[in-house]
Amino acid sequence: MHIVILGAPGAGKGTQAKLISKKYQIPSISTGDLLRSVAQNPQDKISFEISENINQGLLVSNNLIMQVLKMRLAKDDCSKGFILDGFPRSLEQAKLMDELCSENCINFIININVELEILVKRLSGRFSCTHCNSIYNKFFFKPKKDGICDNCGSSEFVYRNDDEEAIIRKRMLVYQNETKPLIKYYENQMAKNWKMKHFDGNNDVDKIFEEISNYLNEFISNKV
Ligand SMILES: [Zn+2]
Repeated sequence: MHIVILGAPGAGKGTQAKLISKKYQIPSISTGDLLRSVAQNPQDKISFEISENINQGLLVSNNLIMQVLKMRLAKDDCSKGFILDGFPRSLEQAKLMDELCSENCINFIININVELEILVKRLSGRFSCTHCNSIYNKFFFKPKKDGICDNCGSSEFVYRNDDEEAIIRKRMLVYQNETKPLIKYYENQMAKNWKMKHFDGNNDVDKIFEEISNYLNEFISNKV
């Protein structure tokens, strides 16, 4: 079972990836984390190149990402499958992925759709307790007692700047422009071995996960 999770920043990709990973006993792999960990402890030519790119603030090339990814996916814990979070990001990467995953696997794209305004509120409304780092949201998840941390009782919080909202909107725009061709590619079933399904990410975490697992279970039982 090969799963790719798509969704804008704040759509809840990481949360769903963790839940799927636990239920189906397959590892969740974030390409961002993978590259960072390779770069932190470079041991071969490829990882030194990646480390250099990251330290210089450059984008890591698709060729390098694929090489690292291939090595990661060849490890034992991926024998039953894997979940990819943060990859592919572009049409070119999607085409490279096609070559990586053979047709006798179950290959799913899970696309989590969330309305732009909700994403902006989710990201820009976040604030955290200075003492225990508990995370809240001024739109969706305030402390039970106004101004007092539920967890530790502190009244000191770190809020985001207003200008961050503009940065967040820009990130969303970049994401949409980047992934639009990718979504089209999967929607029109141009990818050889991948099936895509959209999920409504405006729902709460449990509801989304229930729908995703129903979908996955259906395919697993058909396959047996
Ligand atoms: Zn606290």
